[in-house]
Amino acid sequence: MAAPAVRRRGTAPVAKASSRAAPVEAAVHFRIECADLHAHLFAVTLTVDAPAAQQRVSLPVWIPGSYLVREFSRNLQGLSARQGRRRPALQQLDKHSWQVDCAAGQPLVLRYEVCAYDNSVRTAWLDADRGFFNGTSLCLQVEGHTHAPHAIDIVAPTLAKGAAAWTCATALQAVKADKHGFGRYRAADYDELADSPVEMGAFWSAEFEACGVPHRFVVAGAPASFDGERLIADTRAICETTMRFWHGTKVAAANKRAADRPPFDRYVFMLNAVDDGYGGLEHRHSTALICTRRDLPQQSARKQPEGYTTLMGLISHEYFHAWNVKRLRPAEFARYDYARENYTHLLWLFEGFTSYYDDLLLRRAGRIDDATYLKLVNKTINQVQQTPGRHVQSIADASFDAWIKYYRQDEQTPNGTVSYYTKGALVAMCFDLTLRNEGRGTLDDVMRLLWTRSGGGPIDEADVASALAHVGGRSYADEIARWVHSTDELPLSDLLRAHGVAALDDPAQRAQALGLRVAESGGSVQVKVVLRGGAAERAGMAANDEWLGIELPAARGRAAQGWRLGKLDDLALYLGEHKKVTALVARDRRLLRLPLSLPTDVTTWRLFAQDPARLAKWLA
Ligand SMILES: [Zn+2]
Repeated sequence: MAAPAVRRRGTAPVAKASSRAAPVEAAVHFRIECADLHAHLFAVTLTVDAPAAQQRVSLPVWIPGSYLVREFSRNLQGLSARQGRRRPALQQLDKHSWQVDCAAGQPLVLRYEVCAYDNSVRTAWLDADRGFFNGTSLCLQVEGHTHAPHAIDIVAPTLAKGAAAWTCATALQAVKADKHGFGRYRAADYDELADSPVEMGAFWSAEFEACGVPHRFVVAGAPASFDGERLIADTRAICETTMRFWHGTKVAAANKRAADRPPFDRYVFMLNAVDDGYGGLEHRHSTALICTRRDLPQQSARKQPEGYTTLMGLISHEYFHAWNVKRLRPAEFARYDYARENYTHLLWLFEGFTSYYDDLLLRRAGRIDDATYLKLVNKTINQVQQTPGRHVQSIADASFDAWIKYYRQDEQTPNGTVSYYTKGALVAMCFDLTLRNEGRGTLDDVMRLLWTRSGGGPIDEADVASALAHVGGRSYADEIARWVHSTDELPLSDLLRAHGVAALDDPAQRAQALGLRVAESGGSVQVKVVLRGGAAERAGMAANDEWLGIELPAARGRAAQGWRLGKLDDLALYLGEHKKVTALVARDRRLLRLPLSLPTDVTTWRLFAQDPARLAKWLA
């Protein structure tokens, strides 16, 4: 394929109008304006052509992919209604919905503002530099019209004199957009609007094709050292590898059979590079990403920053989601209910398996080597093993509780639950390695079978069990029960050894050995988490303690000593051979002396390739 056409800041290509059939006249029409960049206010005008007599409208309380009730209506203000010259009565029904007393069938115009000052991928942002929004933050749902086509006019802001011109990027279908991408777009229904974030600004932008599908990558906030060509080359390799994963080596947009072509005809990556941040949110035709600028690929760098591997993993993860969770998805997500929590026990599959494949596909795409891949697996294993909550909650239950646990973490979270991302990725690895051992297929085959059987739609756990049994030639009910629904340990070391990977026990890092997570700054050690069953818990330490120092008893002719602790690693300096000390902590302004026994038997895993040829067979 031709080298990607990399375009620089300010000369971004314009989204083209769809070549599909002419759009149906929209019954719901949004006009989105940047009302005040410095006040971070979007102005929204919503026109409903034929409202009901008691027309209800509401704003979602959550955004799919991020399982937390965020109550976006807290940022909505100044709602008013008009029908011609009439001002119909407007009544707020609850925290996120309203009812308008309309003359039925007469066009209804609602106006409101949304304060956009959350620099995340989940909500909306507007300042003099950049605008970003999700439909869930800006666009009211019109009851009775959510399945109708929606038109969206995105208006270019008035910028300060001399400011670089803004461009608009979105995966929405353009109906009539200007050369900067501002103008009219359409969504087939409210779901598509809610699923199509919009990025605006003087961003860097490039286009490329992967398996015949046009892709666009925009990067806001990129520094001068940013290597866009490198980003595009790596992203294209990731996209093509992912498409081949789902649809085989002959995958192409032009293929006749649906199973042989990608399920989308366009895709947009929107990356916001900031000083400190990380995350992504998946959509059917796009993804919104955030990363630190230090993790971007750098021009003329001999070695790319380590964080760039993490960024590529994020790109791979969100792209994989275009299949796994946005199309193939829990039966409970067949239609989203934007008004409340949407519970599923299956996030271990949709987030965990996606987390297994995100790095594995980087390896298959040739972006990382076997050693780097093993390091990433090693990190995941140690993260799970350092989470006592894996003995408390299964990943199926952790999935269901995501709304109140994973997304609302506090100092007790690691003791009470386990991440369905990390443990889910290890469960995926266990299924893959088990299937490979048994020689009848791989987890890839299971994923593809789930895809073809469901037509890329809703599935439940019975479908997963059935696909595993079909590929592996036996029931995997026992593995599902133990790995997914119980807190049993996973058979990681046996399975890894069978694929050429052995594990050594390394002494744990100091904090881990003590069963602590701490924050160190300005010569002070703050206890953030005390892990269940660890030495710190036995000593009586608690989250939010400040660990001031240690006292050592007199020994071997030495006088008793006391040391002020500046950082945890200094313990080695002060302890010598002492195994029992007194820890001095401050809690609620009180000074406490706690008896601390220092453990010597806490270890972590270090994976290494014992049989590189066998490992290569798995990773190839
Ligand atoms: Zn994810």
